[in-house]
Amino acid sequence: MTKPRTLLALNWKMNKAPTEARAWARELAQGYERAPVELAVMAPFTALYGLKETLPGGVDVGAQDVSAHESGAYTGEISAAMLRDVHVTYAVVGHSERREYHGETDAVVAAKARRAQAHGLTPIVCVGEGLDVRERGEHVAYTLAQLRGSLEGVAENVVIAYEPVWAIGTGKTATADDAEELAAAIREALREPYGALADSIRVLYGGSVKPDNIASICAQPNVNGALVGGASLKVADVLAMNAAL
Ligand code: PEP
Repeated sequence: MTKPRTLLALNWKMNKAPTEARAWARELAQGYERAPVELAVMAPFTALYGLKETLPGGVDVGAQDVSAHESGAYTGEISAAMLRDVHVTYAVVGHSERREYHGETDAVVAAKARRAQAHGLTPIVCVGEGLDVRERGEHVAYTLAQLRGSLEGVAENVVIAYEPVWAIGTGKTATADDAEELAAAIREALREPYGALADSIRVLYGGSVKPDNIASICAQPNVNGALVGGASLKVADVLAMNAAL
């Protein structure tokens, strides 16, 4: 099996105003050398346009969410068509913070992913178990059930991010073996809807990834990159992670 191109996806969460985002992009441009890896920045909506204009060529931008609706009376929502209009490539859907604080269900996540695809965006669908589930030893079954629900009707132009909730922003990282266990299980599960195309779908790991652990995690046979939160804010860390891959 040839591994798909590695994706280093940065999730800034609710950090960086548009001017800060442009300054970050200018700083990145000074040290960035295009690696074999694809780099993409998931920025707040307000920063997307200026960021895409300022980033070095070949670096993509993504949104951290997208509306499940096409257009109309949905105050506060941002549509997939609007994102496409500002040259956005990816949309994260089902991040655990949205599932937890905004009550997003698997059905809503799947609807958002379908809407993103309808407008040419690639959804990054996040799944992963909480600490209680892991301690009961039910993490594989739980994550695969969440995956199936979140991919209902979703086409193969998709990225999956396995993000155990207990490892997000906590400094606790899953071991490379833990990441591979779930990435392999996810890959197998992807064969059901997508057949042989499952091998070309990127499965990322996310959860306290940093410059010193990214290489061993992404070297696992079924791990095709990382979704990085905290360590994505400083350019020096991003350049170090890019160089480590
Ligand atoms: C995330 O927000 O998706 C994430 C993985 O965060 P962190 O790297 O800070 O754990």
